[in-house]
Amino acid sequence: MDLGISGKRALVCASSKGLGLGCAEALAAEGVDLVMNARGAEALEASAQAIRDAYGVKVVTVACDVTTPDGQAMVLKAAEGADILVNNAGGPPPGMWTDWEREDFIKALDSNMLTPIAFIKGLVPGMMERGWGRVVNITSQAVRAPIPVLGLSNAARTGLTGYVAGTSRQVASKGVTINNLLPGLHATDRAESLDTAAAKQQGITIEEARAQRCSAIPVGRYGTRQEFGAACAFLCSQHAGFIVGQNVLLDGGAINLTM
Ligand code: NAP
Repeated sequence: MDLGISGKRALVCASSKGLGLGCAEALAAEGVDLVMNARGAEALEASAQAIRDAYGVKVVTVACDVTTPDGQAMVLKAAEGADILVNNAGGPPPGMWTDWEREDFIKALDSNMLTPIAFIKGLVPGMMERGWGRVVNITSQAVRAPIPVLGLSNAARTGLTGYVAGTSRQVASKGVTINNLLPGLHATDRAESLDTAAAKQQGITIEEARAQRCSAIPVGRYGTRQEFGAACAFLCSQHAGFIVGQNVLLDGGAINLTM
């Protein structure tokens, strides 16, 4: 299926690895030029070059921490006039509900709520003026069903979800859609670090922790960044113009819900 977005320009935040990279690759495969970002310049440039080589699109890289005001200013300058925005950043650390102080919550809110809002405010007005735009926020399955050890993520991402629910309905008439993609377990570095934490907590091996977590997924495995990227590219496509303010769960059936 031709997604009809060849020649568009996308900012994909936090995209040198994992789910962000999956989104960047899937958009590039559709002929979308990219602004890619991550803190580590080496991995970022390597991923950008692999995308240039594979898909022949233009890729600009901005190595910075996207959760800081300076980083946001740098990224916004490079992405001025972008048609597509994929919001992403690292997830907060696991812990117990008693562990976190105000500063921990502020950090999680900065990463997973206020940073995506800053990019929406920075890029959506231009999309509205031009009459077309797509925003996809990478959030988490934790928005539909809280994950006990990820209380910071449960809290911050739910805040973003409320903001998107209201905002998406205010910009839709100008051809701009905002939706959230909710990853369940995917095979990325983040999953590896959560497996490691689970193994340590239970005194089992990482392989045992992974097998335990896969057994709770009806599909019986972790998702891939390619599957995730394909869903993102569809939400960014011409065909997705009637999908507004939705929370699309990509979890292999893990959360037991009727709707
Ligand atoms: P990942 O494999 O660890 O990749 C994270 C990417 O983001 C890397 O490119 C990293 O590069 C970049 N990054 C992290 N913090 C950044 C920052 N402050 N500024 C700029 N770039 C940053 O993670 P992932 O699995 O793709 O997860 C992506 C998001 O989805 C996270 O918020 C995660 O919590 C959420 N999620 C993931 C899963 C899963 O199973 N994988 C499930 C639910 C939710 P640098 O380190 O070089 O900056």
